[in-house]
Amino acid sequence: MYADTEMAPASATSPPAVSDRLGRPLRDLRLSVTDRCNFRCVYCMPKDVFGPGHAFLPKSAVLSFEELTRVARIFVEQGVEKIRLTGGEPLLRRDLPVLVNMLAQIENLKDLTLTTNGSGLATLAKPLHDAGLHRITVSLDALDDAVFRAMNDVEFPVHRVLNGLDAALESGFAPIKINMVVKRGVNDHQIVPMARHFQGPQFILRYIEYMDVGNTNGWRMDDVVPAGEILSNLGESFDLRQLPPNYPGEVAKRFRHANGGGEIGIISSVSQPFCRSCTRARLSAEGQLYTCLFSSVGHDLKPLLRSGMTDEKITRVIRSLWKDRSDRYSELRSAETTALPKAEMSLLGG
Ligand code: SAM
Ligand code: SF4
Ligand code: SF4
Repeated sequence: MYADTEMAPASATSPPAVSDRLGRPLRDLRLSVTDRCNFRCVYCMPKDVFGPGHAFLPKSAVLSFEELTRVARIFVEQGVEKIRLTGGEPLLRRDLPVLVNMLAQIENLKDLTLTTNGSGLATLAKPLHDAGLHRITVSLDALDDAVFRAMNDVEFPVHRVLNGLDAALESGFAPIKINMVVKRGVNDHQIVPMARHFQGPQFILRYIEYMDVGNTNGWRMDDVVPAGEILSNLGESFDLRQLPPNYPGEVAKRFRHANGGGEIGIISSVSQPFCRSCTRARLSAEGQLYTCLFSSVGHDLKPLLRSGMTDEKITRVIRSLWKDRSDRYSELRSAETTALPKAEMSLLGG
């Protein structure tokens, strides 16, 4: 079916969603607020590529808070229910709580969340919570300080992220999702210690298969620890029970500790792709709309936003781009697709 189709509203208050060629509604928007980061995670912004001479976006190229809020509102009017702020490192964007406050006022937005490396949470958790941020996800790949430093590649100590997590809990963000990208031979021995540390109702730990995003991280299938292996590794130390999805299209397979000690998720983007239920659009910090994490090019919305175009016209452009979407990269992954040019994760937001 060519997907010029209006989906039924997800709830009584949702506007009708636009759906793509595979019948997938537009429900989630990831807004990248900066392409800069204070970490150089080996799987995302390797130092040899993102070195001191790297040209990041100039300030004038980055969407303003007003532009971000306007475009976010248009997306929500088209059925988006959840917005995640990302980057780069979103906490590096100056005055981020001001943006959060503006976004939090968008009518019908059900979920406003943020993914961060946690380095700035000790000071920003409370202002972000006060500004109306609903939830946070903190990326943390190891508890072992040496392993963590090797993965962030800027000698950032793990205790500062743990302090940030404490501040986030004190500010009222619970449960907090923890994202751990698992890379074979680098941090796979941290799978069980992480589960032990983040056991309990305050955290939801999610293991993420290392992905071939971008073209700079030297990804090899051999470096991926598949979900099944992560699970059997965990099974040796914990008694886990699978949970049903929270909602259709949830990307993580969820498990609970049988002893009531909280929840764990595994995101198997490589070994068991979930393209069929992918409802996410991504907007880069400079306003490029990507309909897949593995797209090579985006669709530039900035000239539309800066040329005085009406909301109606911008809405038509967004709807038409989504209707034309047929992406399912992970389902089609092969040696050939891995070698194709792709936008970097730090540009379009994870
Ligand atoms: N800087 C923030 C952070 O690290 O949380 C937000 C941006 S980061 C690009 C978003 C997420 O993408 C993080 O959880 C990160 O671990 C994940 N990520 C980055 N590169 C990845 C890769 N090659 N495979 C899997 N996940 C990746
Ligand atoms: Fe920065 Fe996040 Fe990428 Fe690490 S994963 S380099 S923290 S953007
Ligand atoms: Fe969605 Fe693209 Fe990832 Fe498939 S590969 S789940 S379409 S972002």
